[in-house]
Amino acid sequence: MENIVIVGASLAGMQAAQTLRRSDYEGALVVIGDEPHYPYDRPPLSKQYLAGEWDDEKLRLRAAADPAELGIDWRLNTAATSLDLSASVVGLDDGSEVSFDGLIIATGASPRSLPGVELDGVHVLRTLDDAKNLRHHFDAKPNRVCVIGAGFIGAEVAATARERDLDVTLIEGASAPMARVLDTAAGMAIADLHRTHGVDVRLGTGVSSIGEGVVALSDGTVVEADAVVVGIGVQPATDWLEGSGLELDNGVVCDATCLAAPGVAAAGDVARWPNQRFGGALTRVEQWDNAVDQGAYVAKRLLADPDDQPAPFAPVPWFWSDQYDRKIQLAGVPTEQADVVHGTIKEQRFVQLYLDDGEFVGALAWNRPRQAIMARQLLEKGATIDEARAELGE
Ligand code: FAD
Ligand code: NAP
Repeated sequence: MENIVIVGASLAGMQAAQTLRRSDYEGALVVIGDEPHYPYDRPPLSKQYLAGEWDDEKLRLRAAADPAELGIDWRLNTAATSLDLSASVVGLDDGSEVSFDGLIIATGASPRSLPGVELDGVHVLRTLDDAKNLRHHFDAKPNRVCVIGAGFIGAEVAATARERDLDVTLIEGASAPMARVLDTAAGMAIADLHRTHGVDVRLGTGVSSIGEGVVALSDGTVVEADAVVVGIGVQPATDWLEGSGLELDNGVVCDATCLAAPGVAAAGDVARWPNQRFGGALTRVEQWDNAVDQGAYVAKRLLADPDDQPAPFAPVPWFWSDQYDRKIQLAGVPTEQADVVHGTIKEQRFVQLYLDDGEFVGALAWNRPRQAIMARQLLEKGATIDEARAELGE
């Protein structure tokens, strides 16, 4: 290959760019990103940056620390608007076109919206510019912050707002926080954690409307809030690929080696591929580690000899979330069959193992970072539940 184009100038895209150069790829490398900034890291946006502890410079991704280093032709502040597969051309919003012989799609995801997000004082949090606006609003000491959605964004923003001594109400439609990524008991431990820190947590209620300074809930109550944060999930950024012929179904659908078409790969939050580790179920992962690993994988995939059959991309999913002084880490997949093997949920310092039909499929470590790493390694090597209990139990 001599001409690789990466669409999406963020974590997965930069990891791919760096891996291409480290794999001795010397051809042209164009990176297209619709944000005005050089690539930065998102996790601190809801944590250290929103807390006012970090500045913009500290967010810069290491791979983009020196923008000249990787020999990239940067097209920032520029959106890809179309893909013509037969001509191998990406169309841009400035009217120009970029041709390629290898394409990496790494356009991530964008926040779901609610009517009212356009009002003053109502925020979403995905980009550095979103975080700047929200931080500025927090600096002005709003009387009350209403956070809609107790997923990752909601839980982390609520924690940071409390640490800034702001009054917070956290609204969640499900019966427990972080219900998509944790079992119910661990989700309720998140609710307890926030209540202990003074958050007004309302579960099992949606939002019927957002007005100026007020959020009406579906249970008939009203929350007065001059700052509102909407964190109700994301959708993969695939609009620009409509009509391209690629299969789009909750992401860019790829094969087990992350190819969506010959010479076209996808990585990060936007990619959906059959993870062979879990029986080949189509999977899309919205986590930092996955973007790094998949970005690196697709770079090597594009450079692989066409006659080689590369090993499929089959990682153990992994995430962390920092809330107050708690570090919550999950390896693998959660189920409702959870077995606490170390500490107790009540003291908020524990390890629990997840089972599926007797098989060890995941582990949650709560302020137990050493065990979190061990659990991930055990899952990677396919350990049994007895082996996991022996290694991770007290
Ligand atoms: P993204 O980072 O979303 O980047 C995609 C880029 O493509 C964006 O810059 C986007 O603007 C651009 N783009 C989109 N469409 C186009 C187009 N048509 N043309 C050009 N450019 C386009 N994960 C964890 O595991 N732990 C954490 O603690 C954690 N904290 C987080 C905190 C916040 C506030 C957020 C928002 C996310 C957090 N995540 C965390 C998730 C993690 O940051 C994402 O999984 C990761 O950023 C995904 O990387 P990506 O490169 O696939 O996509
Ligand atoms: P999320 O984790 O998917 O959580 C969204 C939550 O909002 C879900 O619990 C959802 O419930 C709920 N919800 C949906 N509609 C609602 C409504 N109308 N009213 C009240 N609640 C509603 O998404 P997110 O928190 O917005 O995070 C966005 C992205 O950032 C994700 O990709 C996430 O992985 C990433 N992120 C990750 C981290 C981390 O890993 N530590 C930190 C921050 C952000 P249902 O599921 O029932 O719809």
